[in-house]
Amino acid sequence: MVIAPSGAGKSTLVNALLAHDTGISLSVSYTTRAPRPGEVDGRAYHFVKQEDFFARRARGEFIESAEVHGHYYGTSRLWIEQQIESGHDVLLEIDWQGARQIRRQFRHAVSIFILPPSLDALEERLKKRGQDAPNVIVRRLLAAGSEMAHAAEAEYVVINDNFANALTQLQSIIATTRLRFASQCARHAHLFAELGIHAATTD
Ligand code: GDP
Ligand code: ADP
Ligand code: 5GP
Repeated sequence: MVIAPSGAGKSTLVNALLAHDTGISLSVSYTTRAPRPGEVDGRAYHFVKQEDFFARRARGEFIESAEVHGHYYGTSRLWIEQQIESGHDVLLEIDWQGARQIRRQFRHAVSIFILPPSLDALEERLKKRGQDAPNVIVRRLLAAGSEMAHAAEAEYVVINDNFANALTQLQSIIATTRLRFASQCARHAHLFAELGIHAATTD
């Protein structure tokens, strides 16, 4: 899971990560927010009306959902289950409320918090992106503090100052995660069996 205040560079980092790593599937969330200029339905998000969102939520279609910046966001349960089933690593770009819900359901889920190098840089990036109205930018800046107040709940922190360095750090976290015993055991099941190595049974 990647968590960050709006404008920290989360989407840019994640897109660069996916361009290099074909083993990762990015979850496309459902949202009631309107598409930004250039945002295509089904790519960054599945854009839905509020009634549709509420109906899906009531049917239990979301593995997590939350209200962020006055809009609703949710992650598809079915899609996540299908990806895990087919052996893909799943990446979620979600807020701290969603991250809490995911941690409760997947004890081994890894969370990475992306921070801006300064508050000024955050404001600068939100303005530079030029895709939100001024009042929306102010709202997102005000919300940044409350999002970042939850950084301590994440396992890893990447400060997105120099972009290339931040990307390398993100890639390192993912590489390390893939070396965890449980991941290695699942990926190399035959080898582990041949070597007589079994998952620990005690907790
Ligand atoms: P951005 O953060 O500026 O890219 O703006 P967005 O409208 O794309 O996202 C706003 C917030 O909603 C961010 O904190 C996202 O991490 C969060 N978000 C996006 N999708 C989901 C989701 O499916 N579930 C939850 N809980 N939060 C989400
Ligand atoms: P988020 O998804 O967290 O809201 P974005 O990925 O849309 O943020 O990034 C916000 C803006 O900041 C974009 O215009 C992006 O090009 C720019 N940006 C991202 N990372 C950096 C960086 N390390 N240095 C300078 N600008 C950056
Ligand atoms: P558990 O509920 O025991 O934590 O996880 C069940 C299975 O889902 C395990 O194989 C675990 O590796 C996988 N899993 C847990 N969290 C995530 C996640 O965020 N992404 C992916 N791809 N798999 C996960």
